[in-house]
Amino acid sequence: MPEFILLERNKAEKAIETLENKYKNAGYYLNFNGALELLVAAILSAQTKDTVVNELTPSLFKKYKKIDDFTAADPNELLSYVKRVSFAENKVKNIMSCCKIIKDKYNGKVPDKMEDLLSLPGVGRKTANTVLINAFGIVEGIPVDTWVIKLSYRIGLSKSKKPDDIENDLKGLVDKKYWKNFAYVLKEHGHQICQSIKPKCEICPIKEICPKNGVN
Ligand code: SF4
Repeated sequence: MPEFILLERNKAEKAIETLENKYKNAGYYLNFNGALELLVAAILSAQTKDTVVNELTPSLFKKYKKIDDFTAADPNELLSYVKRVSFAENKVKNIMSCCKIIKDKYNGKVPDKMEDLLSLPGVGRKTANTVLINAFGIVEGIPVDTWVIKLSYRIGLSKSKKPDDIENDLKGLVDKKYWKNFAYVLKEHGHQICQSIKPKCEICPIKEICPKNGVN
């Protein structure tokens, strides 16, 4: 793994602002309608490409529309709709358990509090932040996905590889007004310029600041 070089605070703030300005239109990438669909799609998306999730959710949500549809589902039939995602059987179990808890404990409504979301099976801070931000407009933190882990290390924003620690590091660096979209901004930067294998440093808007300019 390449050596970590911590970016000085003023440079980190400049890099974050520059990226936010460049990727102004970055936004959440899974298709959903309402908190339940978002929760289900977000659980399915762990270690699975967004395009795969977006391809299967239209037929899934046509068949399973409400909490009761998931709690009463035949697990094998539900699995047949989502079998293309990784760890599909486990995710089906988690989705059905989540829906049962939501039905019994939260009156059938996806909860809008971090601690309640974290109590649901298969829901960690990334998914909880995602649901809070995109379904309820509540910004408590920054969802940390693989792009955030990769680019936070590369750009020098966080040395950690642990999502919760990275989130804390970023919360100390990123202005709160940017928390909502920061994960999507980094993902866009990763797709367009700072690619895993051959980052295009020569056209990067933060090349003057980034400690890994040309050294990846
Ligand atoms: S300079 Fe290169 S390594 Fe640094 S953020 Fe830009 S593309 Fe990525």
